[in-house]
Amino acid sequence: MITVDEHFFEELDEDCPRNVALLHDPLLNKGTAFTAVERDVLHLRGLLPPRQLTQDLQERRILQNFDLIPDDLHKYTYLMALEDRNEALFYRVVIDHLETMMPIIYTPTVGRACQEFGQIFQRPRGLYISTEDQGEMDEVLANWPHEDVRVIVVTDGERILGLGDLGANGMGIPVGKISLYTACGGIDPATTLPITLDVGTNNEELLNNPLYLGLQQRRLTGEAYDAFVEEFVTAVTHRFPNALLQFEDFGNHNAFRLLRKYRHRIRTFNDDIQGTAAVALAGLYSAMRVTGGQLKGQTFLFLGAGEAGVGIADLIVSAMMEEGLTEAEARQKCWFVDSRGLVVKSRANLAEHKLPYAHDHAPAATFLEAVEMLQPTGIIGVSGQPQMFTQPVIEMMARFNERPIIFALSNPTDNSECTAEQAYQWTDGQAIFASGSPFDPVQYDGQTFVPGQGNNAYIFPGVGLGVVATNARHVTDEMFMAAAKALAELVDQNDLDQGRIYPPLSDIRQVSAVIATAVAEVAYAQNLAAVSRPANLLQFMQEAMYEPTYREYVLSE
Ligand code: NAD
Repeated sequence: MITVDEHFFEELDEDCPRNVALLHDPLLNKGTAFTAVERDVLHLRGLLPPRQLTQDLQERRILQNFDLIPDDLHKYTYLMALEDRNEALFYRVVIDHLETMMPIIYTPTVGRACQEFGQIFQRPRGLYISTEDQGEMDEVLANWPHEDVRVIVVTDGERILGLGDLGANGMGIPVGKISLYTACGGIDPATTLPITLDVGTNNEELLNNPLYLGLQQRRLTGEAYDAFVEEFVTAVTHRFPNALLQFEDFGNHNAFRLLRKYRHRIRTFNDDIQGTAAVALAGLYSAMRVTGGQLKGQTFLFLGAGEAGVGIADLIVSAMMEEGLTEAEARQKCWFVDSRGLVVKSRANLAEHKLPYAHDHAPAATFLEAVEMLQPTGIIGVSGQPQMFTQPVIEMMARFNERPIIFALSNPTDNSECTAEQAYQWTDGQAIFASGSPFDPVQYDGQTFVPGQGNNAYIFPGVGLGVVATNARHVTDEMFMAAAKALAELVDQNDLDQGRIYPPLSDIRQVSAVIATAVAEVAYAQNLAAVSRPANLLQFMQEAMYEPTYREYVLSE
């Protein structure tokens, strides 16, 4: 029998009066920016230093402190602490300095933050649902203090970035991704929710680490795992019926299966598979503007046949079918090399997601051999393995193609299949290049090339905004295709002339509004929208976007 001391709740109210609660609530607090009248009315006088600062001045202070911190992981903890104190100010800083802040609040620094999660942990953020909650997930979800949740990012921590199984320490990923939904896509932070499913970890180091914050047990697998996820999906859609549920950094074997299982049942997508696909397809559409060709005339050879590679190929197939090819013809134009060589029919024990691309062909042991045999128009690196696009590979691509498409998408920078400089140098400046991590502009033969970064942040925040604003029932491939086209159309001739196949990252909020509009068009065309169509969709999206301005507590004096 559990008895609770009822007086505790009364004491809690008394000990935590509303004025203090206001200063400690990051969604409501504005710190030194509370006005004199607000301080009077809200009983904040004396609880803050007397001088009132504008948000601009607060931002300046944050940036000055940020610049003094020598190490990126500490910059990360500084920004997280700011988010825990004052969300509006956090988003002001991030939005105004996106190119500086993104590598700190997301990749690559967030990877280190996950590795050190148990050490740098300060305050909880988001929800943890563990195997100990089985049978009671409804109750756990009911503990979340906000009812109107619109975007959920969930991970089970099994394949965090390229870092492998980090168990419950993977929480940094949904937290970071949610920040990008708000900063880039204007999703109101009060309606977002990061979730980690703690189904155990097989990471020995974590299992033996006394500071590890997850359950110290091995991962659930098989039917037990599926039953756990099923209870979660049922509970979360029941509790938050209007939420978009984005799966993130699940292991390969689960990611594809869960996507197939849930995509026609609930409002869901997997960014590692589908978001990556759309950003890569956008890059290819831009490349077609340079080469003058059509997608259906291309042959692509992928290095790496995981979530990113197969996701990109699947969307390319849909796009080629839109241009008139049959599915079989389109699949025949996408080829894969994985860690065991060319993916061909005769290979035994191929994973299910590779089967549609296992063509009837002689095997090739190396990537170079495969390039020689297939003479692709584009090579796409998604293997996580550095320097696999060697000089002979790239020079061979330049022999077969006037403008070879070379996408080295593996992250972080050190894992890139080649550098931007190598791609331009070894093709005599003819490569149409994109990377996963940013590269500085390259000077070659008197010309400046600005390499494009195929960052998923171009796509998922806009897709999220479009889905949330229309309350679309499902997230379809057509939406990702529309997102890719919209992104490619935002690239202007000046960008292309510099070799840039994506718009500048600094335009990302406008990019997201345009993508959201394109996604909404599909939602209406496919009869999936639950919100009646506004007269001006773009304006509707722009107006729906969260701005990190402070709320005014005193409406009139
Ligand atoms: P994954 O683990 O699902 O797949 C990796 C694949 O690479 C597997 O098929 C594996 O067999 C293959 N591989 C491993 N070593 C290889 C080798 N030596 N030769 C050939 N193939 C090899 O990972 P993923 O989610 O597909 O991500 C892969 C890479 O793509 C990562 O580096 C990730 O950072 C990057 N990525 C980039 C973007 C982007 O640029 N927007 C988006 C998603 C992923």
